[in-house]
Amino acid sequence: MSYFDYAASTPVSSKVLDDMGSWQNKNFSNASAAHAEGLKASKAIQLAREVIADKIGAMPSEIVFTSGASEANNLAIKGVAFGHLEHKGHIITSSIEHKCIINTCLFLEKIGFDVTYLKPNEFGVISSEQVASSIKPNTLLISIHHVNNELGVVQPIADFGRLAFEHNIPFHTDAAQSFCKLRLDVDDMDIDMLSLSGHKVYGPKGIGALYVRNINDSGLVPQIHGGGQEGGLRGGTSPTSLIVGLASAVKNFPNTYSFSSVDLEKILSNYKYVRNGKNPIDTIFNITFKDDDEVKRFHHDNHWLVSQGSACNAMSNVASHVLTEIGLSDEEARRTYRISLPPYQLY
Ligand SMILES: *Cc1c(COP(=O)(O)O)cnc(C)c1O
Repeated sequence: MSYFDYAASTPVSSKVLDDMGSWQNKNFSNASAAHAEGLKASKAIQLAREVIADKIGAMPSEIVFTSGASEANNLAIKGVAFGHLEHKGHIITSSIEHKCIINTCLFLEKIGFDVTYLKPNEFGVISSEQVASSIKPNTLLISIHHVNNELGVVQPIADFGRLAFEHNIPFHTDAAQSFCKLRLDVDDMDIDMLSLSGHKVYGPKGIGALYVRNINDSGLVPQIHGGGQEGGLRGGTSPTSLIVGLASAVKNFPNTYSFSSVDLEKILSNYKYVRNGKNPIDTIFNITFKDDDEVKRFHHDNHWLVSQGSACNAMSNVASHVLTEIGLSDEEARRTYRISLPPYQLY
C-alpha cells in the first residue's frame, strides 16, 4: 500500500520525535513553574513561539498554541462572536470551509448571529467582489481559508485582507493547508488571525496555533478559560513536547520531495479523468474519473491510500460539501478522489 493522503495527515520524522522526546520524561516540569526546570520548559516554548511567528512574519507574543487548527478556528470565530453576544452581528465565510468552520458558524446562527456563506465558482474560487458585496454595517469578521483541503485551490486571501482592512473588519484565514507550503506574511497579506496545524506539516497531532494581531486589545474571548496560559486566551498546561515538536517540524520542513506531481501525472495518464479546481497546488490532486470502470481499473492497478471526498466524510456516503458546491452531482462525487502527495515548500 502506498500512502497518498498527506492532506489528511503526515508522519512525524525521527528528528522531530527525538526533539520531542526529552520533554515528556526527562524535562517534564510544568512550564508555569517558577523553579529551574519549569523555566527550562518555558524557554523551550518561547523558542518554539519564535520559530512559528517567524514563519508567518508575526511577533512571538501573537502566537496562541492550541490543540490544532480546529480549535484555532473555533477560538478565532467564537472568540470574536462572543465579544458581541448582546447585539450579535454578521460573519462572512465561504461554503467550502473545513467542517470545523462551517459547524462553528451554523452554531452561531442558532444563537442569533447572521452568517453569509460565499459560494465558489465551478473552479472552487471565491472572489473579492463576492466578499465586497456581502459586507454589511454590522459585519464582525471575515473568515476565508487559504488553500482548500479537498481541491488544493488557493484563495486570493491578500485581496480579502486588503478589503477587510479598508472596512475595518478583522480578517481570519484557515491556513492549515498552506502553512510552510506557501509563503505567508500576516502584514503583507493584511491577516488579523491565522490558524495552523502541526500534523499537516510533519509535526505531531494535537498541536496547532492561532496567530492574533494586537493580541492585547483584540477583544477575543477565550474558549478555554483557565490559568492564564497563552496570554489568557487558552487555558491549560502547555504541552511542551508537542510545541517543541511543531517548531522542529517547521524548522525541518523539506523543500523538495522525490515523488513529484510529474511522477503522479505520468501514472494518472493511464486513466481517463478530469482534475477539479483552478490552479491547485502541486501536492493536491482532486480528480473525477470518467466512469466506474476507470475507478475500478485505477484501484486494481494501484493499491493507494487516498481520500474519497474528504477524510472527514470517510464514514458517510454523503458527497462532500466542497464537491457539491463546485457543482458535482452525488454520482460524480462518488467517482472523485483526492490524491495528496507529501508536502514540501512550494515557493
Ligand atoms: C486538517 C485541517 C483542519 C483541522 O486541523 P486539526 O489540526 O486536525 O484540527 C482545519 N482546516 C483545514 C483546512 C485542514 O486541512
